[in-house]
Amino acid sequence: MLSTLGSIREKLGSGEISSEELVQNCLNTIQGQDEKIGAFLQVHGEKALESAREIDRRRQQGEAMGALAGIPIAIKDNINIEGFHTTCASRMLENFISPYDATVIQKLKAAGAIFLGKTNMDEFAMGSSTEHSALRKTVNPCAPSCVPGGSSGGSTAAVAAGMAPLALGSSTGGSIRQPAAFCGVVGLKPTYGRVSRYGLVAFGSSLDQIGPIASDVPGCAELLQVIAGHDPFDSTSAPNPVEDFSAWLGQPLKGLRIGLVSEFETEGLQPEIQAALTRATAFLKAQGAECVTIQLPHTEYAIPTYYLIATAEASSNLARFDGVRYTKRAEGIRNLQEMYTQSRNQGFGMEVKRRILLGTYCLSSGYYEGYYLNAQRVRTKIIEDYQQAFQKCDLILAPTTPTSAFEIGEKTQDPVAMYLSDIFTVPANLAGIPAISFPSGKDQKNRPIGLQLMAPFFGEAKMLGVADHLHRHFAAPS
Ligand code: GLN
Repeated sequence: MLSTLGSIREKLGSGEISSEELVQNCLNTIQGQDEKIGAFLQVHGEKALESAREIDRRRQQGEAMGALAGIPIAIKDNINIEGFHTTCASRMLENFISPYDATVIQKLKAAGAIFLGKTNMDEFAMGSSTEHSALRKTVNPCAPSCVPGGSSGGSTAAVAAGMAPLALGSSTGGSIRQPAAFCGVVGLKPTYGRVSRYGLVAFGSSLDQIGPIASDVPGCAELLQVIAGHDPFDSTSAPNPVEDFSAWLGQPLKGLRIGLVSEFETEGLQPEIQAALTRATAFLKAQGAECVTIQLPHTEYAIPTYYLIATAEASSNLARFDGVRYTKRAEGIRNLQEMYTQSRNQGFGMEVKRRILLGTYCLSSGYYEGYYLNAQRVRTKIIEDYQQAFQKCDLILAPTTPTSAFEIGEKTQDPVAMYLSDIFTVPANLAGIPAISFPSGKDQKNRPIGLQLMAPFFGEAKMLGVADHLHRHFAAPS
Protein backbone atom coordinates (compact mmCIF):
# COMPACT_ATOMS: atom_id res chain seq x y z
CA MET A 1 0.00 0.00 0.00
CA LEU A 2 1.37 3.39 -0.95
CA SER A 3 1.12 6.09 1.68
CA THR A 4 -1.30 8.86 0.97
CA LEU A 5 -0.67 12.57 1.41
CA GLY A 6 -3.31 12.62 4.16
CA SER A 7 -1.66 9.86 6.19
CA ILE A 8 1.81 11.37 5.78
CA ARG A 9 0.64 14.79 6.89
CA GLU A 10 -1.03 13.29 9.94
CA LYS A 11 2.23 11.61 10.95
CA LEU A 12 4.16 14.84 10.41
CA GLY A 13 1.63 16.80 12.43
CA SER A 14 1.62 14.38 15.36
CA GLY A 15 5.40 14.16 15.39
CA GLU A 16 5.39 10.44 14.63
CA ILE A 17 7.79 11.17 11.81
CA SER A 18 9.93 14.21 10.96
CA SER A 19 10.19 15.65 7.51
CA GLU A 20 13.87 14.74 7.49
CA GLU A 21 12.98 11.08 8.15
CA LEU A 22 10.32 11.21 5.48
CA VAL A 23 12.72 12.61 2.90
CA GLN A 24 15.38 10.11 3.97
CA ASN A 25 12.88 7.26 3.47
CA CYS A 26 12.17 8.48 -0.06
CA LEU A 27 15.89 8.81 -0.79
CA ASN A 28 16.47 5.27 0.52
CA THR A 29 13.75 3.91 -1.73
CA ILE A 30 15.22 5.81 -4.66
CA GLN A 31 18.68 4.49 -3.87
CA GLY A 32 17.42 0.94 -3.51
CA GLN A 33 15.18 0.84 -6.55
CA ASP A 34 15.87 3.54 -9.05
CA GLU A 35 18.78 1.85 -10.73
CA LYS A 36 16.21 -0.70 -11.88
CA ILE A 37 13.19 1.58 -12.37
CA GLY A 38 14.85 4.67 -13.81
CA ALA A 39 12.25 7.19 -12.65
CA PHE A 40 14.69 10.02 -11.88
CA LEU A 41 17.10 11.93 -14.08
CA GLN A 42 18.54 13.87 -11.13
CA VAL A 43 18.14 13.48 -7.40
CA HIS A 44 18.97 16.38 -5.11
CA GLY A 45 19.22 14.46 -1.84
CA GLU A 46 21.41 16.83 0.18
CA LYS A 47 19.39 19.88 -0.74
CA ALA A 48 16.13 18.05 0.03
CA LEU A 49 17.39 16.95 3.45
CA GLU A 50 18.56 20.48 4.21
CA SER A 51 15.11 21.91 3.35
CA ALA A 52 13.44 19.17 5.42
CA ARG A 53 15.54 20.01 8.49
CA GLU A 54 14.63 23.67 8.08
CA ILE A 55 10.91 22.77 7.95
CA ASP A 56 11.28 20.51 11.02
CA ARG A 57 12.95 23.34 12.92
CA ARG A 58 10.18 25.76 11.99
CA ARG A 59 7.50 23.23 12.91
CA GLN A 60 9.07 22.71 16.32
CA GLN A 61 9.02 26.44 16.89
CA GLY A 62 5.30 26.42 16.22
CA GLU A 63 5.50 28.54 13.07
CA ALA A 64 2.54 28.57 10.66
CA MET A 65 3.15 25.97 7.99
CA GLY A 66 2.18 25.84 4.32
CA ALA A 67 -0.22 23.22 2.96
CA LEU A 68 2.58 20.89 1.84
CA ALA A 69 5.13 21.69 4.54
CA GLY A 70 7.83 19.03 4.62
CA ILE A 71 6.21 16.86 1.92
CA PRO A 72 8.59 15.51 -0.74
CA ILE A 73 7.66 15.82 -4.39
CA ALA A 74 9.18 14.73 -7.72
CA ILE A 75 9.06 17.10 -10.69
CA LYS A 76 8.96 16.22 -14.38
CA ASP A 77 12.10 17.41 -16.09
CA ASN A 78 10.38 19.93 -18.35
CA ILE A 79 9.43 22.20 -15.42
CA ASN A 80 12.04 24.75 -14.36
CA ILE A 81 13.47 24.81 -10.84
CA GLU A 82 16.11 27.46 -10.28
CA GLY A 83 19.57 25.94 -10.03
CA PHE A 84 18.46 22.48 -11.22
CA HIS A 85 18.99 21.10 -14.70
CA THR A 86 15.97 21.15 -17.03
CA THR A 87 16.86 18.59 -19.67
CA CYS A 88 13.45 17.59 -21.09
CA ALA A 89 15.25 14.22 -21.37
CA SER A 90 16.99 15.59 -24.46
CA ARG A 91 20.67 15.73 -25.45
CA MET A 92 19.83 19.24 -26.63
CA LEU A 93 19.35 20.52 -23.06
CA GLU A 94 21.64 18.09 -21.26
CA ASN A 95 23.71 20.90 -19.74
CA PHE A 96 21.01 23.54 -19.27
CA ILE A 97 20.55 24.81 -15.72
CA SER A 98 17.43 26.85 -15.11
CA PRO A 99 17.98 30.43 -13.91
CA TYR A 100 14.41 30.72 -12.59
CA ASP A 101 11.48 28.90 -11.00
CA ALA A 102 8.30 28.01 -12.87
CA THR A 103 5.21 29.55 -11.23
CA VAL A 104 4.11 26.12 -9.98
CA ILE A 105 7.51 25.71 -8.33
CA GLN A 106 7.27 29.10 -6.64
CA LYS A 107 3.85 28.06 -5.31
CA LEU A 108 5.16 24.71 -4.11
CA LYS A 109 8.08 26.42 -2.37
CA ALA A 110 5.67 28.81 -0.65
CA ALA A 111 3.62 25.79 0.49
CA GLY A 112 6.74 24.16 1.98
CA ALA A 113 7.09 21.23 -0.45
CA ILE A 114 10.49 19.61 -0.81
CA PHE A 115 11.94 18.78 -4.22
CA LEU A 116 13.50 15.32 -4.43
CA GLY A 117 14.62 15.70 -8.02
CA LYS A 118 13.59 15.69 -11.66
CA THR A 119 11.92 12.76 -13.39
CA ASN A 120 12.39 11.03 -16.70
CA MET A 121 10.05 11.65 -19.64
CA ASP A 122 9.79 11.23 -23.38
CA GLU A 123 12.08 13.77 -25.02
CA PHE A 124 10.29 17.16 -24.96
CA ALA A 125 7.18 15.25 -23.75
CA MET A 126 6.68 13.64 -27.17
CA GLY A 127 5.60 10.06 -26.65
CA SER A 128 3.45 7.64 -24.73
CA SER A 129 5.99 5.28 -23.15
CA THR A 130 9.02 7.29 -21.89
CA GLU A 131 11.04 5.20 -24.37
CA HIS A 132 11.82 8.38 -26.32
CA SER A 133 13.92 9.72 -23.45
CA ALA A 134 17.43 10.34 -24.76
CA LEU A 135 18.88 9.97 -21.28
CA ARG A 136 17.52 6.86 -19.55
CA LYS A 137 15.05 3.97 -19.69
CA THR A 138 12.17 3.77 -17.22
CA VAL A 139 10.32 0.57 -16.40
CA ASN A 140 6.86 0.18 -14.95
CA PRO A 141 7.13 -0.59 -11.21
CA CYS A 142 3.88 -2.62 -11.39
CA ALA A 143 4.92 -4.64 -14.45
CA PRO A 144 8.69 -4.73 -14.95
CA SER A 145 8.62 -5.95 -18.56
CA CYS A 146 6.38 -3.02 -19.48
CA VAL A 147 6.68 0.69 -20.17
CA PRO A 148 5.43 3.10 -17.48
CA GLY A 149 3.50 5.04 -20.12
CA GLY A 150 4.42 8.58 -21.04
CA SER A 151 5.38 11.17 -21.41
CA SER A 152 5.35 11.74 -17.62
CA GLY A 153 6.42 8.10 -17.04
CA GLY A 154 9.19 9.02 -14.59
CA SER A 155 6.77 10.92 -12.36
CA THR A 156 4.12 8.20 -12.29
CA ALA A 157 6.76 5.49 -11.76
CA ALA A 158 8.24 7.47 -8.85
CA VAL A 159 4.84 7.63 -7.12
CA ALA A 160 3.97 4.00 -7.95
CA ALA A 161 7.28 2.77 -6.52
CA GLY A 162 6.85 4.76 -3.31
CA MET A 163 9.85 6.99 -4.11
CA ALA A 164 7.74 10.14 -3.78
CA PRO A 165 4.22 10.60 -2.42
CA LEU A 166 3.49 13.35 -4.96
CA ALA A 167 4.70 14.36 -8.40
CA LEU A 168 4.04 16.87 -11.14
CA GLY A 169 3.58 15.87 -14.75
CA SER A 170 2.52 17.71 -17.87
CA SER A 171 -0.09 16.80 -20.43
CA THR A 172 -0.40 17.84 -24.05
CA GLY A 173 -2.41 14.84 -25.22
CA GLY A 174 -2.62 12.51 -22.24
CA SER A 175 0.83 12.45 -20.68
CA ILE A 176 -0.47 12.50 -17.11
CA ARG A 177 -3.53 10.22 -17.33
CA GLN A 178 -2.03 7.55 -19.58
CA PRO A 179 1.08 6.87 -17.45
CA ALA A 180 -1.03 7.19 -14.28
CA ALA A 181 -3.30 4.43 -15.63
CA PHE A 182 -0.31 2.24 -16.59
CA CYS A 183 1.34 2.65 -13.17
CA GLY A 184 -1.76 2.38 -10.98
CA VAL A 185 -1.75 5.94 -9.60
CA VAL A 186 -4.02 8.99 -9.86
CA GLY A 187 -3.24 11.72 -12.38
CA LEU A 188 -5.19 14.83 -13.31
CA LYS A 189 -5.06 17.16 -16.28
CA PRO A 190 -6.61 20.48 -15.23
CA THR A 191 -8.79 22.76 -17.36
CA TYR A 192 -6.61 24.59 -19.88
CA GLY A 193 -5.60 27.82 -18.13
CA ARG A 194 -6.25 26.56 -14.58
CA VAL A 195 -2.52 26.12 -13.86
CA SER A 196 0.17 28.51 -15.06
CA ARG A 197 2.44 27.25 -17.82
CA TYR A 198 5.12 29.81 -16.99
CA GLY A 199 8.36 27.86 -16.65
CA LEU A 200 7.03 24.72 -18.37
CA VAL A 201 9.07 24.06 -21.52
CA ALA A 202 6.48 24.50 -24.28
CA PHE A 203 5.48 21.61 -26.58
CA GLY A 204 1.97 22.41 -27.88
CA SER A 205 1.13 25.67 -26.16
CA SER A 206 -2.62 25.57 -26.82
CA LEU A 207 -2.79 22.08 -25.25
CA ASP A 208 -0.11 21.95 -22.51
CA GLN A 209 -1.10 21.85 -18.84
CA ILE A 210 0.85 20.92 -15.72
CA GLY A 211 -1.02 18.57 -13.39
CA PRO A 212 -0.79 16.60 -10.14
CA ILE A 213 0.03 12.91 -9.63
CA ALA A 214 -0.60 11.12 -6.31
CA SER A 215 -1.50 7.74 -4.89
CA ASP A 216 -5.05 8.84 -4.12
CA VAL A 217 -7.64 11.38 -5.26
CA PRO A 218 -7.59 13.68 -2.18
CA GLY A 219 -3.79 13.96 -2.62
CA CYS A 220 -4.32 15.10 -6.20
CA ALA A 221 -6.95 17.61 -5.08
CA GLU A 222 -4.62 19.14 -2.51
CA LEU A 223 -1.67 19.35 -4.87
CA LEU A 224 -3.89 20.98 -7.47
CA GLN A 225 -5.06 23.46 -4.83
CA VAL A 226 -1.47 24.59 -4.33
CA ILE A 227 -0.50 24.96 -8.00
CA ALA A 228 -3.75 26.38 -9.48
CA GLY A 229 -4.57 30.02 -10.08
CA HIS A 230 -4.16 33.00 -12.35
CA ASP A 231 -0.65 34.08 -13.21
CA PRO A 232 0.21 37.39 -14.91
CA PHE A 233 3.27 35.65 -16.39
CA ASP A 234 1.04 33.31 -18.43
CA SER A 235 -1.40 35.21 -20.63
CA THR A 236 -3.39 32.01 -21.23
CA SER A 237 -3.94 31.39 -17.52
CA ALA A 238 -7.55 31.85 -16.45
CA PRO A 239 -8.62 34.70 -14.17
CA ASN A 240 -11.41 32.60 -12.58
CA PRO A 241 -11.16 32.32 -8.80
CA VAL A 242 -9.80 28.98 -7.56
CA GLU A 243 -12.51 26.85 -5.97
CA ASP A 244 -12.04 24.39 -3.12
CA PHE A 245 -11.03 21.22 -4.95
CA SER A 246 -11.79 19.05 -1.91
CA ALA A 247 -15.35 20.38 -1.58
CA TRP A 248 -16.95 17.41 -3.33
CA LEU A 249 -14.96 14.67 -1.62
CA GLY A 250 -17.36 12.33 0.19
CA GLN A 251 -20.46 14.00 -1.25
CA PRO A 252 -23.31 11.64 -2.23
CA LEU A 253 -23.56 10.55 -5.85
CA LYS A 254 -27.32 10.51 -5.91
CA GLY A 255 -28.86 12.48 -8.76
CA LEU A 256 -25.61 12.92 -10.70
CA ARG A 257 -25.79 12.22 -14.41
CA ILE A 258 -22.79 10.32 -15.77
CA GLY A 259 -22.27 10.13 -19.53
CA LEU A 260 -20.93 7.05 -21.32
CA VAL A 261 -19.53 7.74 -24.78
CA SER A 262 -20.98 5.53 -27.50
CA GLU A 263 -18.04 6.29 -29.87
CA PHE A 264 -15.57 4.95 -27.28
CA GLU A 265 -17.08 1.46 -27.54
CA THR A 266 -14.47 0.08 -29.88
CA GLU A 267 -13.41 -3.47 -30.52
CA GLY A 268 -9.86 -2.55 -29.62
CA LEU A 269 -10.79 -2.08 -25.98
CA GLN A 270 -9.18 -4.71 -23.76
CA PRO A 271 -11.97 -6.86 -22.25
CA GLU A 272 -10.82 -6.31 -18.65
CA ILE A 273 -11.00 -2.53 -19.18
CA GLN A 274 -14.54 -2.91 -20.52
CA ALA A 275 -15.31 -4.99 -17.43
CA ALA A 276 -13.94 -2.24 -15.17
CA LEU A 277 -16.16 0.29 -16.95
CA THR A 278 -19.19 -1.97 -16.44
CA ARG A 279 -18.33 -2.38 -12.77
CA ALA A 280 -17.94 1.39 -12.32
CA THR A 281 -21.28 2.01 -14.00
CA ALA A 282 -23.04 -0.54 -11.78
CA PHE A 283 -21.55 1.08 -8.69
CA LEU A 284 -22.62 4.58 -9.76
CA LYS A 285 -26.16 3.37 -10.45
CA ALA A 286 -26.30 1.59 -7.10
CA GLN A 287 -25.37 4.90 -5.48
CA GLY A 288 -28.28 6.64 -7.17
CA ALA A 289 -26.46 8.26 -10.10
CA GLU A 290 -28.01 8.13 -13.53
CA CYS A 291 -25.91 6.78 -16.41
CA VAL A 292 -26.75 8.13 -19.86
CA THR A 293 -25.29 7.39 -23.27
CA ILE A 294 -23.83 10.42 -25.01
CA GLN A 295 -22.35 11.04 -28.44
CA LEU A 296 -19.03 12.61 -29.33
CA PRO A 297 -19.40 12.28 -33.11
CA HIS A 298 -15.99 13.72 -34.06
CA THR A 299 -14.01 11.29 -31.91
CA GLU A 300 -12.55 9.50 -34.93
CA TYR A 301 -10.83 12.73 -36.01
CA ALA A 302 -9.26 13.46 -32.62
CA ILE A 303 -5.93 11.69 -33.20
CA PRO A 304 -5.20 13.19 -36.67
CA THR A 305 -6.34 16.62 -35.42
CA TYR A 306 -4.09 16.38 -32.39
CA TYR A 307 -1.08 15.24 -34.41
CA LEU A 308 -1.49 18.20 -36.78
CA ILE A 309 -1.98 20.87 -34.11
CA ALA A 310 0.52 19.51 -31.59
CA THR A 311 3.25 19.04 -34.20
CA ALA A 312 2.59 22.47 -35.77
CA GLU A 313 2.96 24.13 -32.38
CA ALA A 314 5.99 21.99 -31.53
CA SER A 315 7.77 22.91 -34.76
CA SER A 316 7.40 26.55 -33.83
CA ASN A 317 8.18 26.16 -30.11
CA LEU A 318 11.29 24.08 -30.72
CA ALA A 319 12.76 26.59 -33.18
CA ARG A 320 14.38 28.31 -30.18
CA PHE A 321 16.76 25.38 -29.68
CA ASP A 322 19.20 26.48 -32.32
CA GLY A 323 22.71 25.98 -30.97
CA VAL A 324 22.92 29.66 -30.03
CA ARG A 325 20.95 29.85 -26.80
CA TYR A 326 20.33 27.31 -24.02
CA THR A 327 21.80 24.42 -25.86
CA LYS A 328 24.82 22.45 -26.78
CA ARG A 329 26.45 23.68 -29.99
CA ALA A 330 27.79 21.17 -32.51
CA GLU A 331 31.56 21.09 -32.81
CA GLY A 332 33.70 21.44 -35.95
CA ILE A 333 31.19 23.64 -37.76
CA ARG A 334 32.33 25.88 -40.60
CA ASN A 335 29.52 28.39 -41.01
CA LEU A 336 26.25 29.67 -39.54
CA GLN A 337 24.03 27.33 -41.54
CA GLU A 338 26.03 24.34 -40.41
CA MET A 339 25.87 25.48 -36.83
CA TYR A 340 22.07 25.44 -36.89
CA THR A 341 21.66 22.21 -38.81
CA GLN A 342 24.36 20.24 -37.03
CA SER A 343 23.36 21.44 -33.56
CA ARG A 344 19.74 20.50 -34.18
CA ASN A 345 20.65 17.28 -35.93
CA GLN A 346 22.84 16.14 -33.04
CA GLY A 347 20.66 17.51 -30.25
CA PHE A 348 17.22 16.14 -31.17
CA GLY A 349 16.20 12.47 -31.17
CA MET A 350 14.24 10.69 -33.91
CA GLU A 351 10.74 11.26 -32.55
CA VAL A 352 11.33 14.98 -32.00
CA LYS A 353 12.68 15.33 -35.54
CA ARG A 354 9.63 13.48 -36.87
CA ARG A 355 7.32 15.92 -35.06
CA ILE A 356 9.24 18.99 -36.27
CA LEU A 357 9.10 17.73 -39.86
CA LEU A 358 5.38 16.93 -39.66
CA GLY A 359 4.60 20.27 -38.03
CA THR A 360 6.69 22.31 -40.44
CA TYR A 361 5.06 20.52 -43.36
CA CYS A 362 1.49 21.13 -42.24
CA LEU A 363 2.23 24.81 -41.64
CA SER A 364 3.99 25.34 -44.96
CA SER A 365 2.59 27.38 -47.82
CA GLY A 366 0.17 25.35 -49.91
CA TYR A 367 -0.52 22.86 -47.14
CA TYR A 368 -1.49 25.21 -44.30
CA GLU A 369 -5.15 25.50 -45.40
CA GLY A 370 -5.54 21.79 -46.06
CA TYR A 371 -3.93 20.56 -42.87
CA TYR A 372 -3.45 23.09 -40.09
CA LEU A 373 -6.52 25.24 -40.73
CA ASN A 374 -8.79 22.24 -41.20
CA ALA A 375 -7.42 20.70 -38.01
CA GLN A 376 -8.39 23.89 -36.18
CA ARG A 377 -11.90 23.65 -37.63
CA VAL A 378 -12.23 20.04 -36.50
CA ARG A 379 -10.93 21.04 -33.07
CA THR A 380 -13.85 23.47 -32.81
CA LYS A 381 -16.23 20.64 -33.73
CA ILE A 382 -14.74 18.49 -30.97
CA ILE A 383 -15.19 21.34 -28.45
CA GLU A 384 -18.82 21.65 -29.58
CA ASP A 385 -19.32 17.89 -29.18
CA TYR A 386 -18.35 18.20 -25.53
CA GLN A 387 -20.51 21.28 -24.98
CA GLN A 388 -23.50 19.36 -26.28
CA ALA A 389 -22.64 16.25 -24.30
CA PHE A 390 -22.44 18.23 -21.06
CA GLN A 391 -26.02 19.40 -21.63
CA LYS A 392 -27.00 15.80 -20.93
CA CYS A 393 -24.59 14.86 -18.16
CA ASP A 394 -22.47 16.29 -15.34
CA LEU A 395 -19.39 14.16 -15.99
CA ILE A 396 -18.19 11.69 -18.60
CA LEU A 397 -16.82 8.28 -17.61
CA ALA A 398 -14.47 6.50 -20.02
CA PRO A 399 -11.46 4.22 -20.19
CA THR A 400 -8.14 6.08 -19.90
CA THR A 401 -6.41 3.80 -22.40
CA PRO A 402 -7.50 1.04 -24.82
CA THR A 403 -5.07 -1.45 -23.20
CA SER A 404 -3.08 -1.80 -20.01
CA ALA A 405 0.69 -1.13 -20.07
CA PHE A 406 2.38 -2.58 -23.14
CA GLU A 407 5.74 -4.33 -23.34
CA ILE A 408 8.96 -2.37 -23.60
CA GLY A 409 9.88 -2.13 -27.30
CA GLU A 410 6.43 -3.24 -28.49
CA LYS A 411 5.54 0.01 -30.28
CA THR A 412 8.83 1.84 -30.83
CA GLN A 413 9.07 0.78 -34.49
CA ASP A 414 5.48 1.79 -35.24
CA PRO A 415 4.81 5.46 -34.46
CA VAL A 416 1.16 5.21 -35.52
CA ALA A 417 0.48 2.34 -33.07
CA MET A 418 2.10 4.48 -30.38
CA TYR A 419 -0.05 7.50 -31.34
CA LEU A 420 -3.24 5.41 -31.22
CA SER A 421 -2.69 4.58 -27.56
CA ASP A 422 -3.78 8.20 -26.86
CA ILE A 423 -7.23 7.79 -28.41
CA PHE A 424 -9.21 8.32 -25.18
CA THR A 425 -7.01 11.02 -23.64
CA VAL A 426 -6.36 13.39 -26.56
CA PRO A 427 -9.98 14.67 -26.88
CA ALA A 428 -9.95 16.33 -23.42
CA ASN A 429 -6.75 18.19 -24.31
CA LEU A 430 -8.20 19.35 -27.63
CA ALA A 431 -11.37 20.50 -25.85
CA GLY A 432 -9.42 22.10 -22.96
CA ILE A 433 -11.57 20.36 -20.34
CA PRO A 434 -10.31 18.75 -17.12
CA ALA A 435 -9.93 14.98 -16.81
CA ILE A 436 -8.64 12.57 -14.18
CA SER A 437 -7.45 8.96 -14.34
CA PHE A 438 -7.75 6.75 -11.26
CA PRO A 439 -6.78 3.10 -10.64
CA SER A 440 -9.65 0.72 -11.39
CA GLY A 441 -8.36 -2.76 -10.69
CA LYS A 442 -5.90 -4.98 -12.54
CA ASP A 443 -6.05 -7.16 -15.63
CA GLN A 444 -5.30 -10.87 -15.84
CA LYS A 445 -1.58 -10.21 -16.07
CA ASN A 446 -1.85 -8.13 -12.90
CA ARG A 447 -1.23 -4.86 -14.77
CA PRO A 448 -3.09 -1.79 -13.50
CA ILE A 449 -6.20 -0.52 -15.29
CA GLY A 450 -7.24 3.14 -15.28
CA LEU A 451 -10.61 4.73 -15.88
CA GLN A 452 -11.08 8.46 -16.38
CA LEU A 453 -13.67 11.09 -15.66
CA MET A 454 -13.97 14.26 -17.74
CA ALA A 455 -15.80 17.42 -16.66
CA PRO A 456 -16.88 20.73 -18.19
CA PHE A 457 -14.45 23.68 -17.98
CA PHE A 458 -13.46 24.36 -14.35
CA GLY A 459 -15.45 21.34 -13.15
CA GLU A 460 -12.47 19.83 -11.30
CA ALA A 461 -14.09 19.74 -7.81
CA LYS A 462 -17.10 17.62 -8.73
CA MET A 463 -14.92 15.40 -10.93
CA LEU A 464 -12.52 14.80 -8.02
CA GLY A 465 -15.40 13.94 -5.70
CA VAL A 466 -16.79 11.25 -8.01
CA ALA A 467 -13.31 9.93 -8.89
CA ASP A 468 -12.60 9.47 -5.19
CA HIS A 469 -15.76 7.36 -4.72
CA LEU A 470 -14.86 5.20 -7.71
CA HIS A 471 -11.22 4.80 -6.69
CA ARG A 472 -12.25 3.70 -3.20
CA HIS A 473 -14.77 1.29 -4.66
CA PHE A 474 -12.10 -0.36 -6.79
CA ALA A 475 -9.56 -0.37 -3.96
CA ALA A 476 -11.96 -2.16 -1.59
CA PRO A 477 -11.92 -5.96 -1.72
CA SER A 478 -14.70 -7.10 -4.06
N1 GLN B 1 1.48 10.84 -26.28
C1 GLN B 1 1.14 12.11 -26.80
C2 GLN B 1 2.21 12.58 -27.75
O1 GLN B 1 3.07 11.84 -28.01
C3 GLN B 1 0.89 13.09 -25.69
C4 GLN B 1 2.13 13.60 -25.10
C5 GLN B 1 1.86 14.58 -24.00
O2 GLN B 1 0.75 14.68 -23.48
N2 GLN B 1 2.88 15.34 -23.66
O3 GLN B 1 2.19 13.67 -28.22
